[in-house]
Amino acid sequence: MEVNCEGCAGCCLDWRTLADTDLDHERRGPYEPIDDEYNLVALTRDEVRAFLDAGLGDALRPRLWYDWERADGAGGAVDGDRDAGVRIDGAPVAAVRGRPAFFVGLRRAPKPVAPFDRDAATWLPTCVFLDPETLQCRMHDSGRYPSECAEFPGHSLTLDVETECERVEGEFGGERLLDGDPPDDTTGPLFGPQALGQKVFVHPDPERLDGVVDRTVAGDLTAEDRAEFAAVAAASTPGSTAVNDDAYERACDVALDADSWVGEAVSDWRERAGGPGERATDAPLADRVERDRGAPDTPGW
Ligand code: SF4
Repeated sequence: MEVNCEGCAGCCLDWRTLADTDLDHERRGPYEPIDDEYNLVALTRDEVRAFLDAGLGDALRPRLWYDWERADGAGGAVDGDRDAGVRIDGAPVAAVRGRPAFFVGLRRAPKPVAPFDRDAATWLPTCVFLDPETLQCRMHDSGRYPSECAEFPGHSLTLDVETECERVEGEFGGERLLDGDPPDDTTGPLFGPQALGQKVFVHPDPERLDGVVDRTVAGDLTAEDRAEFAAVAAASTPGSTAVNDDAYERACDVALDADSWVGEAVSDWRERAGGPGERATDAPLADRVERDRGAPDTPGW
């Protein structure tokens, strides 16, 4: 599968403010993400563990979904079947067996980027691992490169849905998707029961999540919120909703201790950024915000 990524990074940043069309493909199914991220990369349990082991727990964040279809206006469990939703902060949240379901993805930061051959950089929400200057991934050559990124857009091709490459082509022209055949060797999208505990995780205790929906909507999740979800994911059991308590405790400590270049860079970018799509005049150099704090280099094109 061949793609032309140079100068693009459409799958690594939120370019909705640059587009004329409505880019809302993540919000067309029965469940609507509670956060406003675009193209969240969902990590597997083993990938979450690898990030924690590398001291990069502060790069992780959860995604939960609204379950509007099951909302009945009552508090507590929304209905009694095995996929019943629950309410957190009054909102109906998608759940499995009455427990909130979630992904773990990578955090975003506003960075000064000039994708799609734009003349000048604008502030756009960007994956924490994207170097805003080369528009390359800082993890590409590491063992932590997420399988979803490595196989992108293989999953979309396998499912016969529009790829991000084609969305970029439709908006800005050029050729991004050079080979439309799905690869034979992807790990495949994890859906259904086999995804449980491997990519779709289930939180064992909704009462521990008071305030999480409100803070997600506000874009204001705390380090404790993020650590809670990362630890549950790391301690999950593939194929089930079980969470190992000891593994959870250990993972939670590791996640809370994480103090990597990523966390510092996110705070720094947020302090300095303009609004999404605003011209990034006088933006600081990525070297100063990221590389000087320990971010790995990218090879350049
Ligand atoms: S991990 Fe790398 S390839 Fe994946 S979204 Fe982030 S920057 Fe892009």
